[in-house]
This record gives sequence, structure tokens and C-alpha cells, in this order.
Amino acid sequence: MSRVVVENVGCTVCGCLCDDIVLEIEDGRIVQVRHACRMGTAKFMHATSEERLRYPLIRRGGSLRRAELDEALTLAAEILLESSRPLLFGWSETSCEALRVGIRIAEEIGGIVDNCSSICHSPSILALQSTGMPTCTLGEVKNRADLVIYWGANPAASHPRHLSRYSAFPRGYFRERGRSDRRLVVVDVRRSETAEIADWFIQVEPNSDYEVLTVLRMLVRGLEVNRERVGGVRVDELGRLAEVMKGCSFGVMFFGLGLASSRGKSWNVAAAIRLAEDLNAHTKFAVLPMRGHCNVAGTNQVLGWQTGFPYAVDFSRGYAWYNPGETSVVDLLARGEVDAMLVIGADPGAHLPKRAVRRMAEIPLIVVEISHNPTTMLADVVLPGAVVGLESAGTCYRMDDVPVRVRQVIPPVSGVPSDEWVLEQIYRRIRERKGAGR
Ligand code: SF4
Repeated sequence: MSRVVVENVGCTVCGCLCDDIVLEIEDGRIVQVRHACRMGTAKFMHATSEERLRYPLIRRGGSLRRAELDEALTLAAEILLESSRPLLFGWSETSCEALRVGIRIAEEIGGIVDNCSSICHSPSILALQSTGMPTCTLGEVKNRADLVIYWGANPAASHPRHLSRYSAFPRGYFRERGRSDRRLVVVDVRRSETAEIADWFIQVEPNSDYEVLTVLRMLVRGLEVNRERVGGVRVDELGRLAEVMKGCSFGVMFFGLGLASSRGKSWNVAAAIRLAEDLNAHTKFAVLPMRGHCNVAGTNQVLGWQTGFPYAVDFSRGYAWYNPGETSVVDLLARGEVDAMLVIGADPGAHLPKRAVRRMAEIPLIVVEISHNPTTMLADVVLPGAVVGLESAGTCYRMDDVPVRVRQVIPPVSGVPSDEWVLEQIYRRIRERKGAGR
């Protein structure tokens, strides 16, 4: 029996992208995970379990049946080539290198590339495009921040090591006493798990973030507010918060979908950004979105530098075109426009609205996945993927847009080298078929 211990492994689950995980591997199976939270541990333990997809599947006679890899790759290429409005969606749990190949496929077939931010932090991206964003890295937060605010975010549940690794608890260069050197404030519509450990919890009424942020801006600017309450919060309490924000040495506001997806959406985020800009007249203040998946930020980066647009990029005109609401996943599917779809590194079958999922069930669907999920249940071709950061190396971007190189630790259980390799095989087949047709 051989047992090896591998240190400094990257966890490719959430946007924290923790890179200090220790794995104990016995005869090719992960038997012990150290330093990861429960979410990370579950993914690592699952990675070598019997539940993994180990071979390709093709739908025949209504059911998914085992197929040869070459046959499945060729069918995937044919489906995409024959489509007049193909959509390549997902990318949040795969590498930047895989997305790079995906963009080449979309260019070749005149398709659309969209990613999960289309249904989560797209309001934050729209706000960033309109206002810019005073931001910083998580390393700066750890070393410098003495005021940490979570607005509409509950990292204790969604990003379990965020507080301990980057924000409230770690000892930093200028914050040697860790938690004792920082003030933790939570603004949310309910008393969340994070609010329970905060120094100060401010409960706002649902869908009132824009008003509360606007009044906070007025108070930071020293303007008079002729109201007693706004969004369910006493204005004098907001006045105290404004003074705390102005008086800190380095403040940061992490905002989640509680802000970006409540009424007002991108305007809420823009108001938070403007507040940080106002505060920078008094102190150093940054804002950061709590990006969910391990590489959702990376997909915005790669699409941004390769096409000029961060998501919902349409190549049907022969050049990159971007118009969220027209070229984004839910709209395309709900309108019945998409006639073939490739999904990788996401589970839209579990998360999109009913009309969009119904369309996915009607059209040829290719899925690259590591395990069965609601999307594979709808698929016509299922290709096994490799877990990036465990079975294949690659680059992912942490939520603060810092790229992290993750390593291969074990051989892929499916024998497929990487998601990048799977997409390159599809791309090569598309090119060959197009060449043969000329
Ligand atoms: S906080 Fe996120 S990246 Fe870190 S171990 Fe947990 S799931 Fe993995």
C-alpha cells in the first residue's frame, strides 16, 4: 500500500482558491484532506470516488449509453458545426487554458461564448464598466485592513475560509493581532452566520440597498439627511457607520449577490463603488465582489483580453459582439434562438429558469463534466472532464483577479488529460470537417 502526502494543493471550488490544501493519497485514492473547508473537502473526496464519470456517453433510443471517446468527440464536433446558433456556456470550474480553446471554437463556428457571471455578478461587471472600481488584492486586505464590511454576503456559508484566510481573522503584516486589530461589520437583510460573529450587524429592509448606500454617501460627504430612517435603518446609526468608515486606516467592502441581485442591481453596485470613491478622500477604501466559483473571475479576464468583452460574446457576425440581454444565456435560450449548446464547468440544468432549461432539453446538448448532474441528464453527448488543480494543471483567477497556477496531483480517473485537451480534440475535428467541405 503506497501513501503519499502532497502539500500546497489548490482548491478549485470557490473564489477563495485556497492554495494550502494538504492531501493524503493512498493507492490513487484521496483518503485525507487537510486545511480545506467542508465544501473543498467534499470535492476532493468525491474526485476519486465511484461516482465520477469515467467514460463518454451518447444518447441512443432515449438513454445515455457508453460510447468510444473518438465517436463522442466526432459527434460533438458535428453537432456544433451543423448548428446555426451554437452557445458555449459555463467555464467557471475549468481552466483559463480550456476557455482559450473554447473561444477558438466559437470563432470558428460563429457561436456565442457566455459564462456563469451572466446569471450572477453581471450587474457588478456592468457597474464596473460604467464607474471603474477602487479595488485591492486579498493579500492587501490580510495585511492592512482594519475595517472589513460584508454587504449582502454571507461568506461563513458561501466562502467558508474567506474570513479566516483573508479578511477578519488572519494576522497580517500591519495587523499582527489578527481579529483584535479589525472591526467586522455585516450589512444584510437577515442575521446570517457571518452576522453572528460580526462586531456590528446592520439589518436593512430587502431591496433598499440603493437608498441606504445613497444616504451613507451623503453622510460621508457631510450633507444633511432630513429623515429618521432609511431602508429600515436609523439614520444616526448610518452616521456612526460613516464616521467609522472615514476613520479607518484601510477599509474594504466585500459585496455579494445580496447587493448585486436585489432591486437596483448594477445601480446598487455602482452606489457602493461611489461610496468607496468618496471615502478615498478621507482614507484608503476598496470594494471587492465575492465571486462564487473558482474561475468565474478568470473567464471574465480571458474573454476580456481576447475579445474585449467579459461575457455574452457573440461571434456570429464574424467579429466579437456583446449585448447582455440579447447575447446572454438565459435570453438566448428563453427566446428559443440557440439550436445547439456545449456546457463545461457549470450546471445550468440546475440553475437556469424553467424556460431556458426546457430549451436545453429540446436541442442537441454536449456536456463536459466530472460527474452526473441535472445538465448531464438532458445531454446528448457527455464527455468526461478532468478536475483542474487535481487531475490537470491550469490557471484560475481568484475573486480578487489574482491568477493562481494550480497543479496536477493525480492522474485523471477518466483517462482524459484535461478539459483543454477535450476542447482541442473538438476544435481539430471542426477544422478538419470544414477543410474537407471546402
Ligand atoms: S474556502 Fe473555497 S477554495 Fe477554500 S477550501 Fe473552501 S471551498 Fe476550497
